Amino acid sequence: MKVTDYFSKANGNTLVSFEVLPPLKGGGMKAIFDTLDPLMEFKPPFIDVTYHREEFIYKKRPSGYYEKTAIRKRPGTVGICASIMHRYGVDAVPHLICGGFTKEDTENVLIDLNFLNINNVLALRGDARKFDGKFIAEENGHKYALDLVRQIEDMNTGKYLDDNIENGEKTEFCIGVAGYPEKHFESPNIDFDLQITKAKVDAGADYIVTQMFFDNQKYFDYVDACRSIGIDVPIVPGLKPVTKKYQLNSLPRLFHVNMPAELVKAVEKAKDSEQVRQAGIEWCIQQCKELKAKGVPCLHYYTMGDPATIRQIAEAIF
Ligand code: FAD
Repeated sequence: MKVTDYFSKANGNTLVSFEVLPPLKGGGMKAIFDTLDPLMEFKPPFIDVTYHREEFIYKKRPSGYYEKTAIRKRPGTVGICASIMHRYGVDAVPHLICGGFTKEDTENVLIDLNFLNINNVLALRGDARKFDGKFIAEENGHKYALDLVRQIEDMNTGKYLDDNIENGEKTEFCIGVAGYPEKHFESPNIDFDLQITKAKVDAGADYIVTQMFFDNQKYFDYVDACRSIGIDVPIVPGLKPVTKKYQLNSLPRLFHVNMPAELVKAVEKAKDSEQVRQAGIEWCIQQCKELKAKGVPCLHYYTMGDPATIRQIAEAIF
């Protein structure tokens, strides 16, 4: 079923969803199941699976030459999504990124997903590789998520890359895209950022999932700003609790989000790591209670391999 159909069927009730990371190189499905098993009692109708572009390093060979070697390769999302759907009987939402994919690669992934009846995707650009400094698209790949949305939407109307395919089979992908209550860090300003989001929706995106935020007012203002320019699709808040003291700096650095002074104070006051974790959990619970009371369509948790923390929050909310 489509993610947006779940929202419509919920009749204003707030749903829950979780996002999991594929295991690191060589890892099996156990890591994913270990994350999801403790969370399935909350009945998420869908589970997101992130995609991570491989990074490259240059290794010096005995000959003195340098060899380009792929590191941090994680398994692709197609197989992981199929396993999740098979084990739990819920929908899986693979994240598709532009980085590292030609348009043909993307089409092939979409054909596989369609074949497996995986009809939801989150369409993203992806981040720059560590050593590139800025995002570089593949030759004959997409530069922006907007172009990826267009390609998926084309397939939904039966249009494939090969012009010789006439009246191609129409796919039925429900398309999600990313949104940024505190703006994407490369956007020159929030209005520009909102116009890009609107363009993605106009091109066919069916819903938005937001970057994490720690101040609900940012999310409420963002939703208002979206509505004021005619973005009328569901906007799902993405949530990640602070669990470690160093995250007061690392989360703003990595995700370009602000930490409210009160949250910083609560974490700083904590006497040990468990108290830090509890302070972060308590903050997230308060965020979730308010968001749920305002009738958000779904609370989407970035699990980041820490099901115990997410479980404690979900227990307080659902
Ligand atoms: P875009 O919408 O393409 O925007 C990127 C930047 O380009 C923005 O600054 C925008 O203003 C600008 N821009 C866009 N279109 C144009 C245009 N036509 N002309 C000029 N400028 C333009 N990353 C992963 O690698 N894997 C994941 O699984 C993953 N999951 C995520 C899930 C969520 C919910 C979120 C919020 C992010 C996720 N990310 C993931 C991170 C995401 O890939 C990065 O934030 C990335 O830097 C931007 O992706 P985007 O889809 O928002 O890009």
